Amino acid sequence: MSLSQMARSIHESVTLKLNQTAALLREKGEPVIHLGGGEPKSKTPIDAIVSCTAVLNSGDIKYTPPDGIPALKKAIIRYTEEHYGRQVRPENVVASCGAKQSIMAALIAILDPKDEVIFPAPYWVSYPEMVKLAGGVPVVVKPEDGSFHPTVQEIAAAVGSYTKAIILNSPNNPSGVMYSREFIGGLVELAAKKSLWLLMDDTYNRLVFDGRAPINCYDFSSEELEQSKLIVINCVSKMYAMTGFRIGWAVGNREVIGAMATIQSQQTSGPATPSQWAAVGALNGVQNSIEALRLTLENNRNILMDRLSAFPGIRATRPDGAFYCFPDFSSYEKSSQKLAEFLLEKVRVVTVPGKEFGMEGHLRISFCGTAREITEGIERIRWAVDPTAPNELYLGDRRLVRDWL
Ligand code: PMP
Repeated sequence: MSLSQMARSIHESVTLKLNQTAALLREKGEPVIHLGGGEPKSKTPIDAIVSCTAVLNSGDIKYTPPDGIPALKKAIIRYTEEHYGRQVRPENVVASCGAKQSIMAALIAILDPKDEVIFPAPYWVSYPEMVKLAGGVPVVVKPEDGSFHPTVQEIAAAVGSYTKAIILNSPNNPSGVMYSREFIGGLVELAAKKSLWLLMDDTYNRLVFDGRAPINCYDFSSEELEQSKLIVINCVSKMYAMTGFRIGWAVGNREVIGAMATIQSQQTSGPATPSQWAAVGALNGVQNSIEALRLTLENNRNILMDRLSAFPGIRATRPDGAFYCFPDFSSYEKSSQKLAEFLLEKVRVVTVPGKEFGMEGHLRISFCGTAREITEGIERIRWAVDPTAPNELYLGDRRLVRDWL
């Protein structure tokens, strides 16, 4: 078989693969704890369900414009005004099949072959593959001080004659850190000065802890929207726990948004009609589910940090938002792939190897599950790697004896 170079160069989404593995093990009755997931447990907001079922009940479910139904664009425009203080027009908005498609369409719209796209490590697993799919070259900037906070100077030093864009995701998947106002502001200025596109992936923007407020990147942009190369990405996936509906969007100047809409028109046509109506319901409906989710996640974060702080040899940075923590396990095992496989095999805990996010030795641990899953998951991990942990562990009613330490 002769698959294309492109097909051979793209890796499968590790996180989606892990979901499948966990589901298969669970089907076999294994007591799996999934700390690798990327979606909140809460239910779809009722307003989204009502709006979606209304269109389903009408039986009239047809193609929509490739960039989204007017009602969804209107809801996104209102959202942008309320949360970003920017007045935008329908031509500045494209609705997509998840934030993923918005990012992908933006990259296809702006990259020529071999153009470089800079993003800091640790990064969301899909960025390198998406950049490659769009014909570009990913350029990773790893903070030199070993933290999860790059400096504007480090990003600026990676800018060269092939650089076309920067992608920033804050709070960050996988580290949970929220970049500082100075850093985000500095990057908005750097991008404007160097005439680079800046894709601001605000997927987790509202899910922040410790009394922090979401950072609005437009606060630092003095340019008119039509002159600006800032593209802001959002979705209903995480904040409304609506991952399965697959609705995201991008806001930017009308030229790039128009190009993205054209790309989508040839790629997928508009997003699924019932999903768009569900997103309209969520965006226009009662908003208390976001705060309820945020509080649950903050509480889960506290439980996780409490458990990790009692875990010798682990270095963990306290997440400021999202639902991921990215502890350094290298004092136990340098290969994150080996460690994640070992934990799944021995104690049936799913984690994601840090290697996939550009930082070896770390594991991504999600805290979007229940408090019990977090507590028991960390207890099992500790039992598997820490010689000072008690020698016995129960997985359900199965007694395990550790014979490898
Ligand atoms: N950006 C980041 C940083 C994410 O973590 C995710 C989902 N894991 C996405 C974008 C994609 O979101 P969606 O499911 O809406 O495509």
